[in-house]
Formats: sequence, structure tokens, C-alpha cells
Amino acid sequence: MPNSAKDEYTLVIIKPDGIKKSLTGNILTKLAEARLMIIGAKVVQVSRELAENHYRHLKDKPFFNDVIEYIQGKTYGRNYERVIALVYQGPEAISRVRRIAGATNPEEADPVSIRGSYGRITTKGIYENVIHASSDPVEAEREIKLWFQPDEIIGNIYPTKKIKTEPQEVLVWA
Ligand code: ADP
Repeated sequence: MPNSAKDEYTLVIIKPDGIKKSLTGNILTKLAEARLMIIGAKVVQVSRELAENHYRHLKDKPFFNDVIEYIQGKTYGRNYERVIALVYQGPEAISRVRRIAGATNPEEADPVSIRGSYGRITTKGIYENVIHASSDPVEAEREIKLWFQPDEIIGNIYPTKKIKTEPQEVLVWA
């Protein structure tokens, strides 16, 4: 699908509870209803720094630390310390994905939405709502640039520049 002037971009994260409950397939199938294109996808072990940056707007909330540990998968054991990050492209991508994701509080979310179907509130009071979806175009751009490098995404969706880096050691297949 060629880039269209009206296209939006949005970041989706399948959170550790979605991975632990083996919901990746169900979530991708539900999101397919939005008729968007996936232009980036990867599995990520979320560092504390990345988590804190992603959720920086919640820094003053009493549940901030719990939400950081939740997105890092710290609550579920080492096998689940990972998320799947995706970038979707298409018309009204942000609102279409948010609609399918459902409200933040899984108890208030449309029961047919992803969060309504699969989310829960833990005994600690954290909304384990299975996925993240960008809330608006400014946040979407910030989040996509935070989680992905330009060469991990199909298409030139934001301006890029070339810089020279110091020679450094990189890991290659032996
Ligand atoms: P959203 O993920 O819908 O954009 P926020 O950015 O406000 O919502 O919150 C980020 C995440 O923090 C939520 O997805 C949820 O997991 C958790 N969260 C938000 N608000 C609360 C709350 N009041 N109590 C517990 N957890 C919350």
C-alpha cells in the first residue's frame, strides 16, 4: 500500500500479559478488522529506561512503578519479560486501533474489544489491559521514534538524517 497523505501511524504493544496468555494471534486477528498495514514488528525486552520514557506522562501517578514493572513483565517471571511492538499505517489508524483496543480500564471497556475481552484488574489494582495503542498523532510519533529505528520500518514515515558513528563492535553470526 503506498503512503497516502491521509495515512496515520500508530504504535501497538502486545504487553506481557498478552504474551503470557498466548493472545498474540487473537489480538492480531482483531486488529486486522481495522484494515491497516503493519510496517514494523519486533519482540522487545523492555528496559526500565524505555518503560519510564514510554510512560513518562504517568510519572506522578501512585501506580507508576507498578505500571513500569507490568510493561517490563517483571510480575510474570523471566519467560514473559518481553513484548511485541508493532507499527500500523493507514487511514484513521489511531482511532481505529483505539476502538478495537477498548477503554483503558478493562471493566469499562466494550466487552467485545481486546481489553474488554482479555483484560483484568489485578488485586493490586493495576489495569492489565493486554495491549498499548497510541492515543494521538503527537504521542504516536514520539512512541514510534522511541521504540523503532528508521531502518526497522517499511517506508520513510518521518524525516531522517545520516550521521557518522565511531567504529564499534557489532554482533554477527559466527
Ligand atoms: P492508555 O494505555 O489507555 O493510553 P494511560 O496512558 O493513561 O492509558 O495508562 C497507561 C497504562 O497504565 C494503562 O494501559 C494501564 O495498564 C495502566 N493504568 C492506567 N490508569 C490506571 C489506573 N488508574 N489504575 C491502574 N492502572 C492504570
